[in-house]
Amino acid sequence: MLRMQGFGYRHAGDWDEALRLWQDNPGAVYVAGGTDLLPNVKHGLLAPKVLVGLSGIPGGVVERDGDLVIGATSRLDVLAADPVVRRLVLPLAEAAASVAGPQLRTMATLGGNVMLDTRCMFYNQTEFWRRSLGYCLKAEGTWCHVVGGPKTCVATQSSDTVPVLLALDARLRFRGPSGTRELALRDLYRFNGMDHLAVEKGELLTEIVVPLPGDGFRGSYTKLRTRDSIDFPQLGLAVCGTWEGATPTALEIVVGAVSPQPKPVRGLDAFLGRTLDAAAIDAVADLVHKQTRPQGSVHGDTAWRRQMAAVFTRRALGALAHAG
Ligand SMILES: Cc1cc2nc3c(=O)[nH]c(=O)nc-3n(C[C@H](O)[C@H](O)[C@H](O)COP(=O)(O)OP(=O)(O)OC[C@H]3O[C@@H](n4cnc5c(N)ncnc54)[C@H](O)[C@@H]3O)c2cc1C
Ligand code: SF4
Repeated sequence: MLRMQGFGYRHAGDWDEALRLWQDNPGAVYVAGGTDLLPNVKHGLLAPKVLVGLSGIPGGVVERDGDLVIGATSRLDVLAADPVVRRLVLPLAEAAASVAGPQLRTMATLGGNVMLDTRCMFYNQTEFWRRSLGYCLKAEGTWCHVVGGPKTCVATQSSDTVPVLLALDARLRFRGPSGTRELALRDLYRFNGMDHLAVEKGELLTEIVVPLPGDGFRGSYTKLRTRDSIDFPQLGLAVCGTWEGATPTALEIVVGAVSPQPKPVRGLDAFLGRTLDAAAIDAVADLVHKQTRPQGSVHGDTAWRRQMAAVFTRRALGALAHAG
């Protein structure tokens, strides 16, 4: 059995209190659902003296000024079933429903999913396991076992909701020691598995803002994983577009679980205003294949994961083009 080392717990009733508790307790760490943070504490990947609990801060979904504003503490099982989310941005509900398993989704939050630490099969292990390998660059060591060098960590951004949120061009609202700010989600992740979030220490993610797509919106999220019942993605593919029949007038594809950053596919404008017949869909799938370079930090052969990005693209576009 894995035991956690002891820590203090402070429960916040609102965002101001959470920030104040963090400032009053040096070295404190925020915990929302705890479904990723607490396993990491058990594995000895971090040893916080104090956790500031966010689970008492209400979440919720509101339509406001052409946006869907989602509280960061909204739970994934609630989002997956939310009638407004399902009606307006179904792929987000699909992605939320694909995270982990049912029990975890009753605790896991959208904010925790966006702020999730990067993952690696050489890192998300017990202390005993990591020590036997001489640790690694991300924690206590000097060498990356994936890259085979001492400089770069390519641990993976593995959140299922993030590719969809990126394809929808979501924005994030933060509250921190320096005040409040809004950041485009596309600017949050850096290509550095050890420090992949462009946030200031102590910043709280309070809201996720999704611009509401207009009429003709269709999208999907497809996930590759070993066991559909629980596993993290080995690859995630979000496709979001505005369609007139089988013709997209807007199209975004984002590939997740390949590197410390989710990857928006470039060059899709060439397909706007064109009917997506089988040949055009093959051409998009080729583009996705060319631009997808999965890192070996996640289980599964990298060439196979890359190939599956093209397979998922063909399936998703085939279904979306014929759904109108
Ligand atoms: C067995 C298992 C399977 C899993 N499978 C998947 C999967 O398939 N897909 C997937 O995406 N995830 C998966 N997860 C990870 C996790 O369950 C989800 O990512 C979940 O959404 C995390 O949310 P949380 O509220 O539990 O975050 P927490 O664990 O509470 O926090 C995660 C991180 O975010 C920070 N944080 C949380 N909320 C905020 C906030 N509002 N502001 C600032 N920082 C914040 C915390 O400090 C911490 O660093 C799995 C976990 C387990 C244990
Ligand atoms: S990618 Fe390399 S440095 Fe990063 S966690 Fe994995 S083994 Fe460690």
